[in-house]
Amino acid sequence: MAVDPASENDPDLDPALAAAVDRLAAAPALLIALDFDGTLAPEVDDPAAARALPAAHAALLALHALPATTVALVSGRSLESLAAVGGMPDEVPLVGSHGLEVRLRPDDVRPAATPQDAERVRLLRLRLEPLVSAVPGAWIEQKPAGFAVHTRRVEGAEAAASLIDAVRAEAAAHDAGLTVRDGKNVVEFAARDATKGDGLRVLRAELGSPAVLFAGDDVTDEDALGVLVEGDLGIKVGAAPTVAAHRVADPRAMARVLERLRDARRESAATTR
Ligand SMILES: [Mg+2]
Repeated sequence: MAVDPASENDPDLDPALAAAVDRLAAAPALLIALDFDGTLAPEVDDPAAARALPAAHAALLALHALPATTVALVSGRSLESLAAVGGMPDEVPLVGSHGLEVRLRPDDVRPAATPQDAERVRLLRLRLEPLVSAVPGAWIEQKPAGFAVHTRRVEGAEAAASLIDAVRAEAAAHDAGLTVRDGKNVVEFAARDATKGDGLRVLRAELGSPAVLFAGDDVTDEDALGVLVEGDLGIKVGAAPTVAAHRVADPRAMARVLERLRDARRESAATTR
């Protein structure tokens, strides 16, 4: 294959990564599944204002247009939020809420919760609402497969802690089967749990087991990097610890990877046609 962006002219890509990209480009079927924030889009203060770097966006649209090549986004955002900022054509698969929500096509959206799950969550929420509304500053946030009770704006650490204790006790008494997750000033109740690894498995299975490129910058991306197999390519964006075999510094360097993959995949498609 005569792909020729020589590595010495490509300071963002180390030679091992460039070679891995060129190998992946020759896969018979290819899934390019990518985290969005911090991977394609630089982090910004207003989540609604996040956009993929123009170079990354253009490379992804070009890859999407190639045969046997699927581009997908895998994010912690809700599907709705991911669709709004992603800037991808409607037929691009989206995985939202860390694997809980999957939209394979506009007419094939896998909901995060079954009707039975949704009913359990609704009943527990009804039960907890009086406790939460009795504490000024506390509020409930609906989530795809559950809800969260927030105490960040509650005055006094004791009042916040006793509300958390009270809702936990009420939930345990009413429906002990729900997943309970504690965070900073928040406790979350959910009927289902999932990771980006689960979302990536669904995509891979639906697409007939293509070779996969996955890239991400956050701790939750490690779940997806962890389900990659021989012949896939995992890339960590940034300096944090990772199970990925390769690493780039930032979204700008990630855009270079995608440009190289686009060029190599075009070349590969042209020679096998
Ligand atoms: Mg990210």
